[in-house]
Amino acid sequence: MSGSTPASGPDSGALARLKARLPAPLSALAPLAYNYWWSWQRGGEEVFRDVDPGRWASSGGNPVRLLLESARLDEAAADAALVSRVEALGIGLAAELSRPCAEAEGVTPARPIAFFCAEYGIHRSLPIYAGGLGVLAGDFLKEASDRALPLIGIGLFYRRGYFHQRLDPSGWQHEYWVSVGPDDLPALPVLRADGTPVLVQVPVRGEQVHARIWRVHVGRVPLLLLDSDVEGNSAVGRWLTSRLYVGDRVLRLMQYAMLGIGGSRALAAIGITPSLFHLNEGHAALATLSLIADELRAGSSLPKALAAAKERVVFTTHTPVAAGNESYGRGEAEFVLGAAAGELGLPLEDLLALGRRENGGEPRFGLTELALRASRSANAVSRRHGQLARAMWQPLFAPRPVDAVPVSHVTNGVHLPTWMAPAFRDLLDRHLGPGWEMDPDPARKAAIDAIPDDEIWAVRNQLRAQLVRFARVRSVVDRLERGMPIGYVDEAELAFDPAALTIGFARRVASYKRLHLLVRNPARALPLLRGPRALQVVLAGKAHPSDDDAKRIVQAIFALKAEQGVSARVIFLEDYDLALAPSVLAGCDVWVNLPRPPNEACGTSGMKAALNGGLNLAVLDGWWWEGFDGHNGWAIRSDESVDPWDQDGRDAEALYDLLEREVVPLFHDRDAAGVPHAWVRLIKASLRSIVPAFCSTRMLRDYLATVYRAGHGPAEGSA
Ligand SMILES: *Cc1c(COP(=O)(O)O)cnc(C)c1O
Repeated sequence: MSGSTPASGPDSGALARLKARLPAPLSALAPLAYNYWWSWQRGGEEVFRDVDPGRWASSGGNPVRLLLESARLDEAAADAALVSRVEALGIGLAAELSRPCAEAEGVTPARPIAFFCAEYGIHRSLPIYAGGLGVLAGDFLKEASDRALPLIGIGLFYRRGYFHQRLDPSGWQHEYWVSVGPDDLPALPVLRADGTPVLVQVPVRGEQVHARIWRVHVGRVPLLLLDSDVEGNSAVGRWLTSRLYVGDRVLRLMQYAMLGIGGSRALAAIGITPSLFHLNEGHAALATLSLIADELRAGSSLPKALAAAKERVVFTTHTPVAAGNESYGRGEAEFVLGAAAGELGLPLEDLLALGRRENGGEPRFGLTELALRASRSANAVSRRHGQLARAMWQPLFAPRPVDAVPVSHVTNGVHLPTWMAPAFRDLLDRHLGPGWEMDPDPARKAAIDAIPDDEIWAVRNQLRAQLVRFARVRSVVDRLERGMPIGYVDEAELAFDPAALTIGFARRVASYKRLHLLVRNPARALPLLRGPRALQVVLAGKAHPSDDDAKRIVQAIFALKAEQGVSARVIFLEDYDLALAPSVLAGCDVWVNLPRPPNEACGTSGMKAALNGGLNLAVLDGWWWEGFDGHNGWAIRSDESVDPWDQDGRDAEALYDLLEREVVPLFHDRDAAGVPHAWVRLIKASLRSIVPAFCSTRMLRDYLATVYRAGHGPAEGSA
């Protein structure tokens, strides 16, 4: 959507203030700074960086802070080459915003799709995400923008966002939060015609909690973020949207009320009537109550209101284990939602029945149940997850057999311009021709085979060397922050070898991700890290602040570095986030994923590694269950019938076997020039099979062809 839609509204002056600060030759930077579009354009980041490299680094890649704080603007304005890059990028953005919208059934700029999610991972400077779900949502918005699909994102503005991680010398995780205010971010207030802020109010736990709305531009897609830190709210009310996934369940339900009900009210307040509500995970399920309430107010009976509301809702589930789908006791639900039920004109008993989860004893109120009952279609996020979800939710659709449960799947995909490193993209552009990403012609894919092996290998060496440089610097700083002796700090400068086989494992540390398998059998793990063919391992990941089991796993991995002779071979990078992920994902030769099946609904980091010529070695679960074809990486077939201890033991042995017998020898099988041709053949197979099938272009195409098409959703009728 372009600047003239209701979601943009009058200018708050923030943009004008920034413009006033900029020397005239740099004026195009103001609209660019307030639109994250630059972040996925070739050379976009470099334009801001080159204005003031020091400030760019210290601002965390935040263009608004850069331009507000830099003392180098006049110098930059005198740099003719830089000015012409600024102008070209500015013209690019203007052209992007004025492109006509894509044709999609029932979806128009006036009736866009409203995409609801509790977190968004758009850029490292906007810390309102925790992990895979948020990064996927960010990729979704970017892809919708690239495809000119009228879509608007809804979320919460977490002023203290996701936590930062610091490990103490014993490897124990500590958390801290950094406040980010909307004034220092590329966020603009949503205002009424008279210039006052648009406010929505939601009765939460009996209090009318008010929220402001901030607008972040993600290319053509506006993202509206609700912020309850508003004068007049109680202290609890003001704090409500501070942190992402707070530990307390009741507070979380209060946040979900703000997201779902508040989000719907925000759309109404700015005059947008979405054609479709897309609930990305159950957190946003309470949005359906607003839709039902609208129908009730218009005089419908409850069954009619539900049927009408359903026609406008689609739901994506991301949680393959029953326990991960949040549910609440009657008392909790009544405590938080009682007043909202009254205001919506929806009797509490009916509200509870819509989310009813039977589990033997007293029924509970489940957000996923609500989303399933109040949506016209539901989908899982990988083929395997679809099978599981149908079995898991069959009781809700009884007496239908599992195969007839109306839950389909759309496998997740990743945004190529965000996740493919420029060096790799240049290589493919050069050999496949520009525009190859969107070309369905198999001949173009076949052209991957014709790329000379040594060229692919040169780029792999370059990306690995970049990671090694990056990891050394991070590691030195981490050790200094941890208060380690300077001698140990200095060792980090020599850690890692830019030519060694580099294995990566970085993701949220949840018990099911089984990071501990890497060290399950030290007698086999340690020899892999020693000797002339030693591999090196980059680890990163945060444990949820209240998950002590996961923190113990972080500590056990951290302790690995104390083993004799391997300290230069294992690096644990603190504070895994979007600042860290791109270098790690692009630089690793092998990307490891060891979930306990069937807990991985999809997973996306392996797709990002593949986009950069990394090879996957993963348990057959989530996306790899359909992505592995026998020739494009390595797979561990986990036996789900044995008890978890034995399963862990077998899977760890399978991992060491693959590394010893296949991965290490193949990596070191070189020609006279040092090129590992068999390894590069695997890279080519991986690129051919994974890039087109697991990019977000394919994902969005699937959503358009199935989920977003009226009457095409599989969920006709329901529980
Ligand atoms: C892609 C990504 C994830 C998701 O990783 P999985 O391995 O799929 O869980 C998490 N965090 C960040 C920062 C990412 O970029």
